[in-house]
Amino acid sequence: MYKCMNCGNVEKFIGCAQEKGNAYIYQDSLLNSRNFKYSWIYIVSDNNWQTKFNILECFFCHSTDISKL
Ligand SMILES: [Zn+2]
Repeated sequence: MYKCMNCGNVEKFIGCAQEKGNAYIYQDSLLNSRNFKYSWIYIVSDNNWQTKFNILECFFCHSTDISKL
């Protein structure tokens, strides 16, 4: 769990996330339609999925003084 030491926020942060693994990938056959938001979508295929994230700053006050509790 993370906490902003400046404002006390524990809910929302800015950072970057990476996901990696084997997946089933489905393409949308109606790419040119404006009604569709996605051109493709995927479903995780097995337990080898890896998620990694780094917290850079507080969403609310933009402080980088973030502590891991
Ligand atoms: Zn903050």
